[in-house]
Amino acid sequence: MAQRRLKFWGWGFEGEGPDPAATKKIAASLARRFELNDAPVIAPPTLDELDLPAPRVQRPGALEKILSDDPHERARHSFGRSYRDIVRAFRRDFARAPDWVAFPQDEGEVSAVLDWAGSNDVAVIPFGGGSSVVGGVESAVAGGYAGVVSLDVTRLDRVLEVDRTSRAARIQAGMYGPALEDALRPHGLTLRHFPQSFEFSTLGGWLATRAGGHFATRYTHIDDFCESMRVVTPQGVSESRRLPGSGAGPSHDRLFLGSEGAFGVITEAWMRLQDRPTYRSNASVVFPGFEQAVEATRALSQSGLEPSNCRLLDPGEAASSAGGDGKSALLVLAFESADHALDAWMQRAVEICRAHGADVPDDAVRTRTDAGASREGAAGAWRNSFVGAPYARDALVAASFISETFETAIPWDRFPDFHANVTAAVRAAIDRVCGQGTLTCRFTHVYPDGPAPYYTIIAPSRAGAELEHWDEIKQAAGDAVIENGGTITHHHAVGRDHRPWYDRQRTDVFAKAIRGVKRQLDPAGILNPGVLVDPERGGK
Ligand SMILES: Cc1cc2nc3c(=O)[nH]c(=O)nc-3n(C[C@H](O)[C@H](O)[C@H](O)COP(=O)(O)OP(=O)(O)OC[C@H]3O[C@@H](n4cnc5c(N)ncnc54)[C@H](O)[C@@H]3O)c2cc1C
Repeated sequence: MAQRRLKFWGWGFEGEGPDPAATKKIAASLARRFELNDAPVIAPPTLDELDLPAPRVQRPGALEKILSDDPHERARHSFGRSYRDIVRAFRRDFARAPDWVAFPQDEGEVSAVLDWAGSNDVAVIPFGGGSSVVGGVESAVAGGYAGVVSLDVTRLDRVLEVDRTSRAARIQAGMYGPALEDALRPHGLTLRHFPQSFEFSTLGGWLATRAGGHFATRYTHIDDFCESMRVVTPQGVSESRRLPGSGAGPSHDRLFLGSEGAFGVITEAWMRLQDRPTYRSNASVVFPGFEQAVEATRALSQSGLEPSNCRLLDPGEAASSAGGDGKSALLVLAFESADHALDAWMQRAVEICRAHGADVPDDAVRTRTDAGASREGAAGAWRNSFVGAPYARDALVAASFISETFETAIPWDRFPDFHANVTAAVRAAIDRVCGQGTLTCRFTHVYPDGPAPYYTIIAPSRAGAELEHWDEIKQAAGDAVIENGGTITHHHAVGRDHRPWYDRQRTDVFAKAIRGVKRQLDPAGILNPGVLVDPERGGK
């Protein structure tokens, strides 16, 4: 059977996602929703339409088997998967594709690529699944490098050891989510880190971006599951000890968690695992309004119950992704355990919701001992929409609709003003730029001291004007988030796209410390230039 290839321009494997007829149907339904006469559809690019420039640097004989100039791979490694990336792909804009794509099979080959690149002024972009939504794997880097290599780690793709006693495994960084879970399943273990991009993102990418996963409370970021990490830097290998906890100075792993490929290439990590859950309890809780739902979610986050899912959808989001009536907010609530039944936890959570005005009929709660509980009712509808959304977005891009998200976090006491100000600023930008559009909000993760709000924008744009339109809306969103005290990202990372606001969020002292680390680990400034900091390159 022929091997499936990932699309070079959009989400998933070739042949998956909406076909031309389905794309037209989606476009027509959006045109009706926004009362437009029509929504013309642009066909996705094909490889023979691309005009890829010839590699600017010679491939040395020693790296012949590692460096590829296969056009499909060069095109696929040109961008991540943000809205801007997909629009540029639809514009057939691959003029700055990487010169080569490296596929190292072991750490020795990773080092060999870094050595060659360091001596030849070639920028190296570590690349996992390429699902970055912040310009993190962009090959069009500034700085006048002699060439650019995208270093794809997905051939480092095995679970190397399992420690059943401590419930941990040593896992290579290039494993995609599904393969990683498949390898752990025979041991009865799971990482349970399920970002929306799970299918097409890797362990190394999650660690390098501090990704946010499945658990809405407690273990929200991949950080919480990382026991130790091994990183190949241009200055040698850094490896931390496997420890359940350590107070020995600043955290070794924290230096590399969120380092976004700017300090080194993560090659493997020991990850803390869970027993596979066998008890599940799940409820879809409807609130008459968003404010009451927010208060209930705060009470839940501070109750110590620690639900595995606690995703609050505002009325707009509940309507578009879970069949809501457009007025009610929806809380998707779940508990899971491999050890004990969860009725008492769910009962108390429902009491809290009822005390905040939710009408929770007894049949809204489903308790099961298999995975089915989360796939039924409004929660199931939301889950299906969540999994299908990245495919649908490609269709929206084809029809010149803006479809993008931004996410942040803020303490509870500031949330009401923050939310009011951010939504006002972004709505004004949408109206100014596109004339109309929708802005919805959900909480992806919640903490005892605050939520992580996640905003989704859908707005009609115009073929050829999408990037300019999006950039103006994104500018308004980033400014409003930073000016109102939020973080420019809760889990999507900084990349290149968030740099202007990240630079405002951090202090100069901290920026200097990051620059110092970069200078020590990557003195030639070749690793992912432009993310987190600008490399210092000796006058170049
Ligand atoms: C549809 C969609 C849904 C998403 N949902 C979520 C979500 O739920 N939660 C979330 O947190 N994010 C989400 N993201 C963003 C993205 O999936 C995450 O940032 C993810 O962690 C990236 O993993 P990746 O393997 O694709 O990394 P890539 O995109 O390949 O790389 C991301 C960054 O990490 C660096 N990097 C990658 N691998 C390594 C390595 N081995 N060593 C050093 N640096 C490396 C890259 O240089 C880059 O800076 C979503 C993206 C999309 C398109």
